[in-house]
Amino acid sequence: MRLEVVHPENNVSPEHPLVGKSIAIIGGGPAGAFCAYELARNGVEVRIFEDRSPKRPDFSAGEKRIPCTGCAGWLQADVTKLLADNGLEMSPEVVQSKTTFTSIVMPKTEANLRLNAPSTTVFRGFSPIHQFEGHPHVASLDGWLLEKAIDAGAKHLQVEISSIDLNEDSQGKVCIGDSTGLKYKTDLVIGAFGHNRRLMNTIQYPDSNPMRLEMPESQRAGVREYFIPKEFISRDLLESTFVFANPTPRIPFGTICPKGKFDQEPSGMYITIALMGRGDVAPDDFKDFLDNEQVKRLLHIDTQTKPRCACFPPLTVQSPRQFILPGRKDNVIMVNIGDAGPTRLRKNGIGSALDSAKHLSDILLRYGNSSEHMEIYKRYIERTYVRDNHVVNFVMHLSDFILNHDFTRRAVICLTDHNLGVVSQITQNTIERILTGKGPYWRIPIDVFLEIFANTSGPGE
Ligand SMILES: Cc1cc2nc3c(=O)[nH]c(=O)nc-3n(C[C@H](O)[C@H](O)[C@H](O)COP(=O)(O)OP(=O)(O)OC[C@H]3O[C@@H](n4cnc5c(N)ncnc54)[C@H](O)[C@@H]3O)c2cc1C
Repeated sequence: MRLEVVHPENNVSPEHPLVGKSIAIIGGGPAGAFCAYELARNGVEVRIFEDRSPKRPDFSAGEKRIPCTGCAGWLQADVTKLLADNGLEMSPEVVQSKTTFTSIVMPKTEANLRLNAPSTTVFRGFSPIHQFEGHPHVASLDGWLLEKAIDAGAKHLQVEISSIDLNEDSQGKVCIGDSTGLKYKTDLVIGAFGHNRRLMNTIQYPDSNPMRLEMPESQRAGVREYFIPKEFISRDLLESTFVFANPTPRIPFGTICPKGKFDQEPSGMYITIALMGRGDVAPDDFKDFLDNEQVKRLLHIDTQTKPRCACFPPLTVQSPRQFILPGRKDNVIMVNIGDAGPTRLRKNGIGSALDSAKHLSDILLRYGNSSEHMEIYKRYIERTYVRDNHVVNFVMHLSDFILNHDFTRRAVICLTDHNLGVVSQITQNTIERILTGKGPYWRIPIDVFLEIFANTSGPGE
């Protein structure tokens, strides 16, 4: 086995505790592929079990696999930076569009808040299924990341895992099995299989360990992709991603992400509409959203228009508290990351999937899978994601209060007025933190305080 110092900060050596051990990552979405990439490029033996191919499915040959992941693919600038900082400059083939601003549309008001918050949208899975038929080089974030992991030395097995047996054998190995009946022994299972409740339910736990891994609680969100003919595209839509706050009583958060390279599809462009509900999102919620006057002002889509694709995938609304399972000795035998574990509730799912993958791989590279050191990872994830379980609901109530009252809505608009200098900047940054889920919500008051302090104390002597 090859284990060498590629990154001085990771400092793995031939005596490293992972030498001779194997790691199985189930799921090659952003969390699994990025974790595999980080481990493999440092010489760790890692296998990714992902039943999708990194290549676009060959529909003409009758492949039926649903290639989409049902995600809007909206990435904040710091997410692309995290990838770039780790040697992964996003390929232009993955990028679906780039916008300079994020515009917030509040209910019952004409004025939009326009934040200088650039973002990127990427193809997820191979969605939208029908887009760019004439452009065969379009790649997806998931496929591209998986390929990077494979190039770095990770082994991809294109199989569906259907069983996980965490009873250790005499050498401390556990066993996962695929849907064809093949079994694979491993020292550590990293669960990066998203919201796959069925797989979680197959886990066989050792009798000696009463601890059980938990699934995140989820609700159905909604996502649709539409093609917009050229004559209906406004300049606003080319420059900005739109976030509608409380557009309907059931929907607290709806986004319109402009998609596609207009120059490549001169007859029009695509947009994604993603809706997050107070409960499960249903088809009628799209009708209500498209009927909203402010939405119509930006973009008129007849509610009878057939979307290019539509689905209602699960979105985490409560992070699990148990996401690490210790083994018999001083080691960990399974860890769940990304959507299979704790994540940023309702927001920035790809960003948190990559963040948890990065932190886990750093700990493994430094210390191996010892229970003692996995505590460092556990504390980070609890601090960053699990604690937000309580705070997010409070923030949602507070936003409802602000959005539902004329006085508070006006106050927010006033505070973001550029003439107010620092105050406007701090208010805009706070709104951006709430909308994009850049960091934990409990940190927002601390960040505001630090920003005020930095602005009032000025540069030192
Ligand atoms: C409607 C909607 C819109 C969203 N929009 C955004 C957005 O705009 N921006 C954003 O940052 N996030 C968004 N998200 C969240 C984002 O999609 C997820 O947080 C992110 O995909 C999580 O990555 P992951 O790798 O943990 O899981 P996934 O992306 O779910 O990847 C899991 C992988 O595991 C594989 N897998 C599962 N089971 C098995 C098995 N048994 N065997 C083998 N392989 C298996 C799957 O094929 C898949 O590739 C959205 C979510 C929803 C529901």
